[in-house]
Amino acid sequence: MTTVDLKTIQHRIGGAETAGRSTRTAPIYDPATGGQQAQVLLAERADVDAAVAAARTASESWKEVSVVRRSRIMFAFRNLVEQHLDDLARIVASEHGKVVEDAKGEVIRGMEVAEYACGIPQLLKGEYSEQVSTDVDSFSFRQPLGVCAGITPFNFPVMVPMWMHPMAIATGNTFVLKPSERDPSASNFIAELYAEAGLPHGVFNVVHGDKVAVDAILEHPGIGAVSFVGSTPIARYVYETGTKHGKRVQALGGAKNHMIVLPDADIDMAADAAVSAGYGSAGERCMAISVVVAVGDAGDELVSAIKDRLPKVKVGDGLDPSSEMGPLVTRAHRDKVASYLDSGPAQGATLVADGRDTAPDNDGFFLGVSLLDDVTPEMDAYRDEIFGPVLSVVRVKTYDEALSLVNENPYGNGVAIFTRDGGVARRFQFDVNVGMVGVNVPIPVPVAFYSFGGWKNSLFGDRHIYGPEGIDFYTRTKAVTSRWPDPATSKVDLGFPQTR
Ligand code: NAD
Repeated sequence: MTTVDLKTIQHRIGGAETAGRSTRTAPIYDPATGGQQAQVLLAERADVDAAVAAARTASESWKEVSVVRRSRIMFAFRNLVEQHLDDLARIVASEHGKVVEDAKGEVIRGMEVAEYACGIPQLLKGEYSEQVSTDVDSFSFRQPLGVCAGITPFNFPVMVPMWMHPMAIATGNTFVLKPSERDPSASNFIAELYAEAGLPHGVFNVVHGDKVAVDAILEHPGIGAVSFVGSTPIARYVYETGTKHGKRVQALGGAKNHMIVLPDADIDMAADAAVSAGYGSAGERCMAISVVVAVGDAGDELVSAIKDRLPKVKVGDGLDPSSEMGPLVTRAHRDKVASYLDSGPAQGATLVADGRDTAPDNDGFFLGVSLLDDVTPEMDAYRDEIFGPVLSVVRVKTYDEALSLVNENPYGNGVAIFTRDGGVARRFQFDVNVGMVGVNVPIPVPVAFYSFGGWKNSLFGDRHIYGPEGIDFYTRTKAVTSRWPDPATSKVDLGFPQTR
């Protein structure tokens, strides 16, 4: 038997690849074949210390760089991301499993945050009040925090880190990214693009790792702020631990997104939306639709319209251009997602489509599109964040029942309503306790000049991510009160007239 040396993905600290003090590794799979394709180093505390030290050193000069220059570097970075769209998308597809077109979509959405960050000279403008007292002015401006860190999930290995680092860097901070250990390569590629764009070494660093690295970040006295995106239990832990260690923390958690379909909705439009938002990226999106709430007599027609569309979703290798849905990220995750196709019917749901029957027959981590009808709030399929291609349909009688269902859910990330009635939609956007609301739009991810964030167990902290709240998160304001006596009153002759 021949053995092939696996590529080892290293950290990127102070502009150079390094193994640092790491000896532990994690496997990187090709989800489409089930085989291991690489391994990634898992940082020890000393590696986080080294990254923070590099970021601190860089911070001293980076904070002095003019906003115009920072904007130009961000502009160059943004252009390089666009130039390397295909490369980045293929890296994502090969480690995450999602189809290349979908991966391109995430790179573009991430790039939009870099575009927003290019406006930093405008975004950082402060406030000025003249003559608040005799000869006294007051003004405020924003300054960076120093070293900021990001801890990110596997499901958007380019986009989610880009919700953070362009904002942190443009506002004058330096950054340490700890990406998911399941699909780490895109982050190193991004580090190369930053270097090519002219970002000084040490401003953007990547440390790969697991809980050891996360804990080292949360406890590190040299880090001022931590942005986290991932599952709810870890988000809560990160928020509690990080704030206990004196850091500013924004921790975005999991989701259970509902799509309410009222009887007056365009059922074809709603069914198309449910299929793309439920099964896109194999359901591994924090804004994926997980529950379709069919109101009144919308149920039968809607379930039948969704069912008709399912055979058309071609499941296969994400790198194959004909595939529309790829595999899940790991075998363990695929098996957990598939378990709801047993527990659902055992608890009373109707299994309309079983993705185990339609998945490609190979060792990849595939599960076909799956549909459960007659799901009720007590069932595991409703209570858990499945994070896979299993869509549940809950049937309710009235709008009020649908609204209560959403408002009583512990998550509050995204929600959508499908209706032709503007008055009902307007009432819904007022009533619903969820951070991001779509009206006839299934995945209402805010554009880069708004901010992204859920409510309830979907966000710990008080600042949403990117957009105006991102500027706020990565800076602190300084208010200056200054007195400059009128030169007319000066005892020294400055050449000013003594009276006016
Ligand atoms: P995860 O919580 O398992 O991992 C996220 C990060 O936390 C990773 O970097 C991981 O290394 C680290 N981590 C994992 N276990 C840890 C532990 N015990 N202690 C310390 N750190 C730990 O999440 P995931 O499986 O990578 O991603 C999927 C989850 O992310 C889903 O719940 C999804 O809803 C959520 N998500 C939320 C949003 C949002 O905007 N709210 C966006 C994307 C993903």
